Amino acid sequence: MPRDIRLIVIHCSATPNGRALSHGSASIAAVIDGWHEARGFRREIYWRQQQNPMLSAIGYHTVIDTAGVIATGRHLDEVGAHAAGFNQNSVGVCMAGTDAFTPAQWSALQAVVADYRRRWPAARICGHRDFSPDRNGDGRVTPNEWTKTCPGFDVAGWLANGMTPLPRNVFAGA
Ligand SMILES: [Zn+2]
Repeated sequence: MPRDIRLIVIHCSATPNGRALSHGSASIAAVIDGWHEARGFRREIYWRQQQNPMLSAIGYHTVIDTAGVIATGRHLDEVGAHAAGFNQNSVGVCMAGTDAFTPAQWSALQAVVADYRRRWPAARICGHRDFSPDRNGDGRVTPNEWTKTCPGFDVAGWLANGMTPLPRNVFAGA
């Protein structure tokens, strides 16, 4: 049965900007899977049989490497492990990097979010840090309230700007 997706959550890998996570024969999904396995995440056998059986732990549904390669992780109908307290009705997408992503990654993210929007038109698109508690109760989660900075850019601003990133969030080369 398809899940009722209400949140599309964007993450970053908190690794150096512009540095690919895939290496040799290991895909970005396999690399992140290794990290999540070490953190104790586990996928259910049923879901591994549905998609990516070699990935035992990865918490995200989609990951995007620096070259703009889009790879799948968990099945979209499989509950993820990426946003504590919000996994049940969300999908998670992760960009390699910290706060500046390559033009190819931005194009890939646009494509992924456009696809998600078609699937779940009513879902809210947000960044992981937007789940930080609104400590002063003013109805906005401001930078001083972020418990983490992931995904390293303002998702609402990016959407309002027609999915065009700010120059400081574009990795222009080492
Ligand atoms: Zn995150």
